[in-house]
Amino acid sequence: MTAAHLPLLLDLHPDDYPLPGFRRRQLLEWVFVHGVGDYAQMHTLPAELRAELAAGWQLNPFKDIETFRSDDGSVKYLFTLPDGRQMEAVYMPYLDRKTICVSTMVGCPARCAFCATGAMGFGRNLTPGEIVGQVLAVAGGEGIAPREIRNLVFMGMGEAMLNYDNTMLAARILLHPDALGMSKRRVTLSTVGIAKGIRRLAEEDDLGIKLAISLHAPDEETRQQIIPTGSANSIDEIMAAARDYQAVTGRRITMEYTMLRGINDHLWQAELLAERLRGMVSHVNLIPMNPWEGSNFISSTEEKIQAFYDTLEGLGVDVSVRRSRGKDAGAACGQLALKRPGAASGHAGA
Ligand code: SF4
Repeated sequence: MTAAHLPLLLDLHPDDYPLPGFRRRQLLEWVFVHGVGDYAQMHTLPAELRAELAAGWQLNPFKDIETFRSDDGSVKYLFTLPDGRQMEAVYMPYLDRKTICVSTMVGCPARCAFCATGAMGFGRNLTPGEIVGQVLAVAGGEGIAPREIRNLVFMGMGEAMLNYDNTMLAARILLHPDALGMSKRRVTLSTVGIAKGIRRLAEEDDLGIKLAISLHAPDEETRQQIIPTGSANSIDEIMAAARDYQAVTGRRITMEYTMLRGINDHLWQAELLAERLRGMVSHVNLIPMNPWEGSNFISSTEEKIQAFYDTLEGLGVDVSVRRSRGKDAGAACGQLALKRPGAASGHAGA
């Protein structure tokens, strides 16, 4: 069996690593604390054990990694998988929080009309190790320890709720104290609005990660124009699931809203959005659209975004404007892979 055909070690839950107690923790430390991607360098493990591991388990999920650095400090990572497919992660080292946006799929079946990934269609689900491996690879590329990356959003390519089990296992690996040891308050799952998934997430008691919903419109007609595939539920169903989620977890929900000129930036829509959110503990993130070649949409003007913001705030909604990162490094998620033949497809349009 060649290395590329071996099972991926990172696909395992940390409790299932193939070594007994003390050795298991040593192996986990090499992988997740020191970020070592080569068994040969794990010198506290006996040579024979290292050889056994190398013969049985592949450590690196990626065939090739390219980086694209933006002037604002963010870095896009384009990963080529062993099957030749490509997907991306974005590293944002700004302020005091090193944040990574990871993909959960190659491409995406949701086909949101403003999204470069949606335009490419669905390639395949990523495995848990291919999701977690993005954090290790980015840490390696940046010359930092994996645990220095403290914030993670499942907001890259793909709809995480449609790759639910793999994403949940990835989240458990991220949070596990012997693995990446991330704080559950610093891991956010973003969904385009899969009501069933939102309800399932509410029942994952041990996880406690945060939820963001890419709503993008408060009225059904506009939303169907933006998210036409029917992967997502109606706004009424999404809001009902969100309220149930909040009733169970007590956690605040973030609503992502990509600002599209002339489409969803009318002030009546701000009023309707405020109405939809009444009684819910939420935060609205307004995201100027990050333009990409071939898109039928452009971002709302600064004035429109400000007016939309003012209307929401005036109606008591907790709101902020998120500035897009990495415009000169390949722009929105999906755009790097989109430009390459054979690649499938990125999330929130920013
Ligand atoms: S915005 Fe997210 S859910 Fe929609 S097509 Fe893009 S990656 Fe998929």
